Amino acid sequence: MAQNLNRRRLVQAFAAVTAGTLAAPALARNECAVFTRQTQEQVTPDAALKRLQEGNARFVAGETIHCDLRQQVRETATGQAPFAAVVGCIDSRVPPELVFDQRIGDIFAARVAGNIVNDDILGSLEFATQLAGAKLIVVLGHSECGAVKGAVDDAKLGHLTGLLAQIRPALAGVEYRGVPSSKDKALVQRVAERNVYDTVKKLARAPVLAGQVGEGRLLIVGAMHDVGTGKISWLA
Ligand SMILES: [Zn+2]
Repeated sequence: MAQNLNRRRLVQAFAAVTAGTLAAPALARNECAVFTRQTQEQVTPDAALKRLQEGNARFVAGETIHCDLRQQVRETATGQAPFAAVVGCIDSRVPPELVFDQRIGDIFAARVAGNIVNDDILGSLEFATQLAGAKLIVVLGHSECGAVKGAVDDAKLGHLTGLLAQIRPALAGVEYRGVPSSKDKALVQRVAERNVYDTVKKLARAPVLAGQVGEGRLLIVGAMHDVGTGKISWLA
């Protein structure tokens, strides 16, 4: 009898341990599961934002989630259903998938120097949201942006001249004294933030995106990445 009791306790203890060990990997497995149209549909715009905020918190804390990327490649081979889209700079220090701790099939990423939006990027975002179902657009600027510095200094070089001209209105939108210079780090930061703000406004006015925002199916937000810390702050 005592032996049976001990055995029962052992079984119960084992069951508890098993449940405990399964609980943690179950969460990790869920994080590594690729999005399907069904699971994408369950993510609200606010939840999409929360996912990216939590991802950046993991990135900053050095607690990124490691998944089997080859498995994710296999699971996304026949389709994708990313929950968010990011417009970011080409800067090597701000890869959206890494700084938001996301993986294969999670986010659309459009990258161009100075994270500006022209008609082609806008068309890409219309595809990402209206057709492919992403619930969130993040315009992601960053500190120490070379494109913003070039715009502040009114630099000229080949096709870069035309690109920087699209950032110049942000300079006109902030206060400064004298001749603007990229040596003024605070000015560069203000222009970078203003550029993000203006870009968010531009997207919000685009009819295809505005329609989705009006129906509560899409959120458009601006954010700034700090290349010194990896931390992303969200613009109001
Ligand atoms: Zn940049």
